[in-house]
Amino acid sequence: MQTSERSNAGPRAFHVMVKPRGPVCNLNCSYCYYLPKEKLYPGSDFRMPDAVLDSFTRQYIEAQRVPEVTFGWQGGEPLLMGIEFFARAVALQEKYRRPGMRIVNALQTNGTLLNEAWGEFFKAHNFLIGLSLDGPQALHDAYRRDKGGAPTWERVMRGRDILQKHGVAYNILCTVHQANAAHPLEVYCFFRDEVGAQFIQFIPIVRRVNDAGDQEGTALTAHSVTAQQYGDFLSGVFDEWVRHDVGRVYVQIFDVALAAWAGERPGLCVCEPTCGLELALEHNGDLYACDHFVEPRYRLGNIMETPLTEMVASETQRAFGQAKRDTLPQQCLDCEVRFICNGGCPKDRLLVAANGAPGLNYLCAGYKAFFTHIERPMRMMAEALRQRRAPASVMQRLAQEEAELTARLAHARRNDPCPCGSGRKFKHCHGRMFKN
Ligand code: SF4
Ligand code: SF4
Repeated sequence: MQTSERSNAGPRAFHVMVKPRGPVCNLNCSYCYYLPKEKLYPGSDFRMPDAVLDSFTRQYIEAQRVPEVTFGWQGGEPLLMGIEFFARAVALQEKYRRPGMRIVNALQTNGTLLNEAWGEFFKAHNFLIGLSLDGPQALHDAYRRDKGGAPTWERVMRGRDILQKHGVAYNILCTVHQANAAHPLEVYCFFRDEVGAQFIQFIPIVRRVNDAGDQEGTALTAHSVTAQQYGDFLSGVFDEWVRHDVGRVYVQIFDVALAAWAGERPGLCVCEPTCGLELALEHNGDLYACDHFVEPRYRLGNIMETPLTEMVASETQRAFGQAKRDTLPQQCLDCEVRFICNGGCPKDRLLVAANGAPGLNYLCAGYKAFFTHIERPMRMMAEALRQRRAPASVMQRLAQEEAELTARLAHARRNDPCPCGSGRKFKHCHGRMFKN
């Protein structure tokens, strides 16, 4: 049966992260979960053959019943395929594109191989580039090093210059780990003020000690962020953003949270109730349940043998996605921030919940602290949206409240209840900072 005949059985839309060079990369970042995947394909040249690219492009476009299709390119380092590969990819997209269908290419890169030719190509074909950058030089270079152990920050910043020079749209993907977690303001202000980034994603490093890079075992590597660190990091960035940058800088997790508070779907798999619509395609056409589950037991098949839509709509993949919701421990079911957290990504569910049930997210304490911390301003922004006002109005409101509080603090006496509403005496609260 032709793939197109089966397409009605699958979801209206899904996303595949394509790895044309597999896990091959010119860097050797110490927290990378994907480099060990080379062991899955011994002897491979790790280059996606033209037949696989052609078949995938056709099947992927045929399967989507939405007007816009995003091709996501990742690795390893996808730029190692060379420009010719992506020129061919764009030509195939044009060949199979339905009239009126818009195609977007989003490519994640470590940025070190960007040059003038790449800048011209990406601009000409409207690629959206995700640039991996972990903050200012020392914080970035702590873990992001090349095969010879040399630091990479300067090369990435030159790559950023290329993107800016050619007017290529890009966003920053920053991982949060042991080296940068204690520096939220330094990291965020660097992206905002020195990189000039408008779109930023923060991704927690939670990596299990496992030679294959598989999601097995409960011990984590020393690079992994702790739950409290992650919550504190996001809260620290949020406090700066919500006072100065709403509507000017877009931080993915804040956008996602606002959508949830406004009663919409979060739109990010980690925060959705179920998953299973974010798959990964290896260089030889093997399809996996998710980029974080490229393991033999999560291999759905190969697109050269089984239609893509059949694998996406399969009972195996459906069960994978539903398990995210169906295996939530009672602690999550009872949690007041579940509407936005939804228990987080299954790959991070390493802990035992309060009632002894398995499956609590390792980052739970951080998620809870962060989502609780941002609740009030999020409610203000969601209310602004309902009243068709810009969420950015929250900045003026918070500034006014803080000015009023400062005035009240200035007149408080030592044994008065603190004007901030903490319930403590002034001398034990803000009075420590304000003398009277
Ligand atoms: S396993 Fe995690 S990363 Fe993968 S689709 Fe589900 S929530 Fe997203
Ligand atoms: S904050 Fe913790 S308990 Fe609440 S939904 Fe998230 S993981 Fe579950």
